[in-house]
Amino acid sequence: MVPIQMVDLKRQYSKIKPQVDAAIQEVLESAAFINGAPVQQFSQELGQYLGTKHVIPCANGTDALQIAMMALGLEPGDEVITPSFTFIATAEVIALLRLKPVFVDIDPKTYCIDPVAIEKAITPKTKAIVPVHLYGHSADMEAIMEVARKHNLYVIEDNAQAIGSDYTTKAGVTKKAGTFGHIGCTSFFPSKNLGCYGDGGALFTDDDALAAKIRMVANHGQSQRYYHDEVGVNSRLDTLQAVVLRIKLQLLDQYIAARRAAAATYDQGFAGIPQIITPYQAPNQVHVFHQYTLQLEGADRNKLQAYLQEKQVPAMIYYPVPAHRQKMFAGMTDLNQHLPVTDSLTGKVISLPIHTEMDPDQLHHIIESVKSFLN
Ligand SMILES: *Cc1c(COP(=O)(O)O)cnc(C)c1O
Repeated sequence: MVPIQMVDLKRQYSKIKPQVDAAIQEVLESAAFINGAPVQQFSQELGQYLGTKHVIPCANGTDALQIAMMALGLEPGDEVITPSFTFIATAEVIALLRLKPVFVDIDPKTYCIDPVAIEKAITPKTKAIVPVHLYGHSADMEAIMEVARKHNLYVIEDNAQAIGSDYTTKAGVTKKAGTFGHIGCTSFFPSKNLGCYGDGGALFTDDDALAAKIRMVANHGQSQRYYHDEVGVNSRLDTLQAVVLRIKLQLLDQYIAARRAAAATYDQGFAGIPQIITPYQAPNQVHVFHQYTLQLEGADRNKLQAYLQEKQVPAMIYYPVPAHRQKMFAGMTDLNQHLPVTDSLTGKVISLPIHTEMDPDQLHHIIESVKSFLN
């Protein structure tokens, strides 16, 4: 059996090596390392794929979130509502800009921010909501946009884990995750569902004025060359990363299908096991399985992880400490705030390997290993 990894980027690369190598060679020979034509081409192609008017590339997903908050003109002291059950970047940039992170609980099924909890957390200082589409499943964007409209709030979607995921509204309109809010943000970190070979990120919006503002913020606050209207940042996607992403974007739906097939095999293998809750998929959504995360009931997670390790099965905890309990937020939020669903899930989740190259032998071995531990 091929050794199992959380994400197998080597095997994925081996299948696209000729195209990737040729594309990289071309960039090397053109020497157009910054803002080469492929950066713009990729942005247009991703915009078409997502059905969004503007895609503005940047250096990584964390920058995308920061640039979004700067472009919306959020100011120190403004409150931003976000889930605590997320990768730290989401909340970190809020704090970095001297905004106030307001952590709320998640839906116990989807693991994404709870729209009812959002509404309860709104104060006169609230300016924005940052839902996170965790593990590849979108938050309930229709309900969130309703709350946002009612209270006149901005919505920035953290779509780093759910690119390509579909969400169908009550009116029957299917849209991609990340295209409901005022701005969508994503990451092209290598292990993400659309990953490059280094760092990369992007923002999406349908709003022309906002797109212009985002471009300006990402480029030293520059309106025309050497005329700087505002304090901005320097955040770009390298041409080398853009050529890799152009190739992988063509394969994204195939990659999603491979992840979904692996998830379906896991679901079947774990059906009927009382200690396991398999990932939920809302009927109006297509889960893209950035992670395949189990919830354990009445089983020792650390022992399972150690047992799997012995069987050469890696497994990870995303995330062992929720954001609202991280020391970095001391003084900004109550580190002892009790978020019942988040606090409980933090102790129960375990993510199994899932990627585009999983084969039946590997899946069988992982399922049997988990089962033999629980028996
Ligand atoms: C990966 C990730 C980010 C940050 O992306 P980087 O490109 O690593 O900066 C932000 N939010 C979430 C939910 C992520 O998974």
